[in-house]
Amino acid sequence: MSTHTYNFGAGPAKIPQSVLKRAQEELLNYDNTGMSVMELSHRSKPFGEILNRTKSNLTKLMNIPDNYEILFMQGGATTQFAAVFYNLIAAKQKELSKTKDNSPIVVDYIVTGAWSSKAADEAQRLAESVKGNPIVVNRVVDTKKAAGAYDRITPESTWSLTDPAKNHVAYVYYCDNETVHGVEFQSVPKVNPSVPLVTDVSSNFLSRPIDVNKYGLIYGGAQKNLGPAGVSLVIVRKDLIVDLSVGPLRPLMLDFDTLAKNESMYNTPPTFAIYMVGLMLEWLLEHGGLTEIAKKNEKKANKLYDALDSSKLFSAPVQKEARSKMNVVFKLPKELEAEFFKGAEERRMVQLKGHRSVGGARASIYNAMPEEEVDVLVAYLEQFEKEHP
Ligand code: PMP
Repeated sequence: MSTHTYNFGAGPAKIPQSVLKRAQEELLNYDNTGMSVMELSHRSKPFGEILNRTKSNLTKLMNIPDNYEILFMQGGATTQFAAVFYNLIAAKQKELSKTKDNSPIVVDYIVTGAWSSKAADEAQRLAESVKGNPIVVNRVVDTKKAAGAYDRITPESTWSLTDPAKNHVAYVYYCDNETVHGVEFQSVPKVNPSVPLVTDVSSNFLSRPIDVNKYGLIYGGAQKNLGPAGVSLVIVRKDLIVDLSVGPLRPLMLDFDTLAKNESMYNTPPTFAIYMVGLMLEWLLEHGGLTEIAKKNEKKANKLYDALDSSKLFSAPVQKEARSKMNVVFKLPKELEAEFFKGAEERRMVQLKGHRSVGGARASIYNAMPEEEVDVLVAYLEQFEKEHP
């Protein structure tokens, strides 16, 4: 029996075999250093080259303009919930310091699932600690409250975005792909261009082309589309990076300016994770970059959703216009779930259970998942349905 495992996990997630093999080949002797990347000093020349190559390949893949900084940070995407808040409030306070204006600063959160909700909660929790202008956390929309479930993106016309002509708005935040609920934005939300737009792309990072210019900040953890856990990438417009002496008191390690001035090496960065991200970026470039990967992702997702939509047993609960191409959430009768997951495991299809907060099933089909492996899942869905007419 084959030992190949079909890993549908949401993260940490599948990494292409060729990337793992290359890491294996280089494990004991990286670039003739006689050492593993894990053992190299972060201040050494070979690691410096890894970092620079990773940055320049990310710049190439995403077409990142010169007025953006790329930061490698730790603490997962969750840490960015706080970092984004502190740093962008600081940028707004700096702007307002010239005016001595003490009226509230608003941060707008578009809540379309678990992760944007958590980010808004964190902003709310931290808001009271900020001195000076009071902070108002505005949930522009919470689609669960508006529609009963996180299964859609409600029309923008129904959102209550704050008017920057009447209020100080530090940023508008949204999560581009909600990993738990399988809801993905199909276009960039239309916000006033004077307000920095922030997005969490943890689970659809580099899965399709993105217009960086539309954003003040883009961030994501690596462990879904970009390699192993341990590093988060932050792409932030330089004018939003302000000196630590301005704005809310914040830990050094959350301060974009400190990280930027030190080339993401104020302290020891997660060197091996950054190296793995570098290999993933090279893999993406070898496979035609974002336009090509987007085509493949679209094809894979369509196959799976088509199978679910044509089934009488399985169903995809998310509205068609908001379906994620990365995390395909689906349902089947509760009494058949245990048998379904058991049968999947027997066929070496693993991590198909939905997030523990929502149940059901979820197939994460990130960049590294080839179409043939989606076909294997589709065949199993069809067979399981035949066996349960
Ligand atoms: N945002 C999104 C969209 C996520 O999917 C996750 C993790 N599943 C997080 C944030 C939190 O990431 P971390 O566990 O790296 O803190």
